[in-house]
Amino acid sequence: MFIMTAKIPPNSRERNAMDSSLFDVIIIGAGPAGLNGALVLGRCRRRVLVCDAGHPRNAASHGLHNYLTRDGTKPAEFLRLGREELKSYETVKLMKIEVTDARLLEHGFEVTLSNGERAVGRKLLIATGVVDEIPKLEGLDSFYGRSVFHCPYCDGWEMRDQPLAVYGKGENGLGLALELILWSPDLVLCTDGPSELRAEDMARLAQHNIPLREERIQRLEGNNGVLDRIVFADGEAIKRRGMFFSTGQQQASELPKKLGCEFTDDGCVATGAYEVTNVPGVYVAGDASRLVQFVIVAASEGAQAAVAINKELMKEDL
Ligand SMILES: Cc1cc2nc3c(=O)[nH]c(=O)nc-3n(C[C@H](O)[C@H](O)[C@H](O)COP(=O)(O)OP(=O)(O)OC[C@H]3O[C@@H](n4cnc5c(N)ncnc54)[C@H](O)[C@@H]3O)c2cc1C
Repeated sequence: MFIMTAKIPPNSRERNAMDSSLFDVIIIGAGPAGLNGALVLGRCRRRVLVCDAGHPRNAASHGLHNYLTRDGTKPAEFLRLGREELKSYETVKLMKIEVTDARLLEHGFEVTLSNGERAVGRKLLIATGVVDEIPKLEGLDSFYGRSVFHCPYCDGWEMRDQPLAVYGKGENGLGLALELILWSPDLVLCTDGPSELRAEDMARLAQHNIPLREERIQRLEGNNGVLDRIVFADGEAIKRRGMFFSTGQQQASELPKKLGCEFTDDGCVATGAYEVTNVPGVYVAGDASRLVQFVIVAASEGAQAAVAINKELMKEDL
């Protein structure tokens, strides 16, 4: 189905003479960033291949927030709407498939798909997102996205004024606990083992009436996705209506690293204006390159990258 070539002619006339399955842009990842990038490029009549492995970061969420006109929309519905809208643009091809490899060619990129096929594109937009390190606590799966969350901006409003637990060690746990004061006056910091906090950190917690519990957690209990109790290893339990955790995240894909992209100290792909990376022709949008990780921000970055890519292609062709 796809052409396999080690060389893309840089000149547009030569390119037109080639197999029309040469893509202007290959987008890896069809979350909000990749889909919005595809929308802008489709409207520019660019030939676009969008590949998505089908593991959106917010799959567990009951509804996305902070997106004007979409507040409370289910994430799966948001993606369905996005994919549906792309159908109007016949030059955009969407595949549910993982990209397992990518390499630089003389004037473009070749990607390998999990079915062994390869595709060639002139520019690459990577929108592969991140994966969260979710605490390994018995019972957590049935509460995650309903009453256990990681982001107060996304779900703090729904949990306002409720008795909440904060899960995390050291500076992460402390920072999240202090942040959550905005949403609830009834907080307990659970570190599930030694807190790794200094005396002055503990004093700050005490100053804000946030008890510290360093005991190991045995399990979470509740019904229908609603957290009720946190049970410690010694059998003692505390009643909590919700929990927020801060335990870190990683890049969802190794491809930016493999292509030679630079990273920030926080583990994000380093990008400049319009989501450009240090690797010419490679753009990274969405959570993979940002610390403000919202659907609306990811979508906006996808659009910005698409405009930059389109301008770059025009510069090469005209
Ligand atoms: C529980 C939870 C709740 C959240 N709630 C909110 C909220 O209320 N409001 C809000 O604004 N944000 C929320 N977020 C954050 C939001 O999910 C992200 O900011 C947003 O999804 C980022 O979009 P993205 O396109 O960068 O990445 P993603 O949405 O993660 O999409 C990346 C896509 O790339 C695919 N992919 C990865 N590697 C490959 C590969 N090699 N080949 C092909 N495809 C690949 C993945 O399968 C995935 O489909 C929440 C996150 C979580 C975890």
